[in-house]
Amino acid sequence: MKYYDKLIFELSRPGRKGYELPADEYGKDAMSAIPSELMRGTEAELPEVSELDVVRHYTNLSMKNFGVDTGFYPLGSCTMKYNPKINEEIAAMPQFTQLHPLQDEKGVQGALELYYNLQQALANIAGLYEFTLNPYAGAHGELTGLMVMRQYHLSRGDEKRTKVIVPNSAHGTNPASAMVAGLEVVEVKSKPNGSIDVEDLKPLLDDTVAGIMMTNPNTLGMFETEIMEIAALVHEAGGLLYYDGANLNPLLGKVRPGDMGFDIMHINLHKTFSTPHGGGGPGSGPVGVVEHLAKFLPNPRVRKNADGSFSIESDGESLGSVSSFLGNFGVMMKAYAYILTLGRENLKNVGPLATLNANYIKESLKDDYLLPIDGVCKHEFVFDGLKDKSTGVTTLNVAKRLLDYGFHAPTIYFPLLFHESMMIEPTETESVETLDEFIDVMHKVAAEARETPEDVKNAPLTTIVRKLDETTAAKNPVLTYRQLKSAAEK
Ligand SMILES: *Cc1c(COP(=O)(O)O)cnc(C)c1O
Repeated sequence: MKYYDKLIFELSRPGRKGYELPADEYGKDAMSAIPSELMRGTEAELPEVSELDVVRHYTNLSMKNFGVDTGFYPLGSCTMKYNPKINEEIAAMPQFTQLHPLQDEKGVQGALELYYNLQQALANIAGLYEFTLNPYAGAHGELTGLMVMRQYHLSRGDEKRTKVIVPNSAHGTNPASAMVAGLEVVEVKSKPNGSIDVEDLKPLLDDTVAGIMMTNPNTLGMFETEIMEIAALVHEAGGLLYYDGANLNPLLGKVRPGDMGFDIMHINLHKTFSTPHGGGGPGSGPVGVVEHLAKFLPNPRVRKNADGSFSIESDGESLGSVSSFLGNFGVMMKAYAYILTLGRENLKNVGPLATLNANYIKESLKDDYLLPIDGVCKHEFVFDGLKDKSTGVTTLNVAKRLLDYGFHAPTIYFPLLFHESMMIEPTETESVETLDEFIDVMHKVAAEARETPEDVKNAPLTTIVRKLDETTAAKNPVLTYRQLKSAAEK
């Protein structure tokens, strides 16, 4: 073990210090501003280290991590595309970061204009009437959108519409959001190719249906060709169509959910619009709706006045508020920079290139990996493990082995429709050379699985941490230094 691989607590030496609290604006010790009843009674157990120790500790830690800036990251359903650095630079401008949400409207006209422009850009991209940028994440957007759906039915006195239809292949957040919104989840079956079984859907469509939640292309990356019929059936029954647009990548620039008959949708700016994610945020899950639902969107919203100025408004029929102030402004600025740097013409290439890349990998690997659903996919696809499973090498083994070759694993064991699911999404930002390298490595791992299966089963062999005991990690996680010490003493 290298010296700086030690835990920061082990580098601690009594009295060593790397900080000095500044005096307050009156020149007094900053601590004196804290009322005595709020002061802690005992010293916090913190490592006592120098600034240099801290810098090395975090820099070394960051080098043990795998990110899209260090290697190819084909994590299906997550759209781990490259995030151009200019987005970060723009979002970090002090003109943005030093704004205060309680500042007077007149002093933040520029920021409101960008906010408004992003609302409009998303509405154009989605083919919908109005967007709120308030929600903080995809699941939060789903909840907001479903609250709009509920509010719509209640406003018509249609109180018995509490049923939301969700395909059994849906992202787990869909049924969860419906439950949190106080709605009841009803599952509709998928056909073997992953698309919704319209015959199974029909009997579910009665006067208790609030709506249906779908994503198109579906979770298996296949386009729902019967979407227009589904939309007509749901609308005839008095329900609304919700589109899970967390991954808008397959459609971007080509197809608009509004044109397919959807009434409400959310978009994950932190997937499709190139904000870094995977570390848990910050995110943004804007929600768009058709015109007659716009009045139910959450408050506050940014509007453009007749004189060209911008204001923050609250409407009476709104479902209320879902966030503090206007949402995660920094994430919005990254998304806005992304849209402007690509421009209308290049934005149209995102979906087609993401689709081309996914199909290229799928066709190149289907000799070694089991492709349960053949045909042209959109931005992602699913293998059901290795074709030759005779040596007992699993999807988990293949995923771990990829780490030895410098690639992040695909999404594994999701969707649940297959036992050995391996969901691959390359995105449009990878070069053909990177894709070829990944394809070579996947073939190499398949050959190893046949010839030297133990190498694959024991993987990863070269990573900082070897195979983890995932059950213990989930059931008895050791998250603090104190827990680690007491575990070691036992
Ligand atoms: C990622 C994702 C979500 C959830 O988004 P969060 O920002 O993680 O809450 C919902 N649906 C689909 C299809 C997704 O891929």
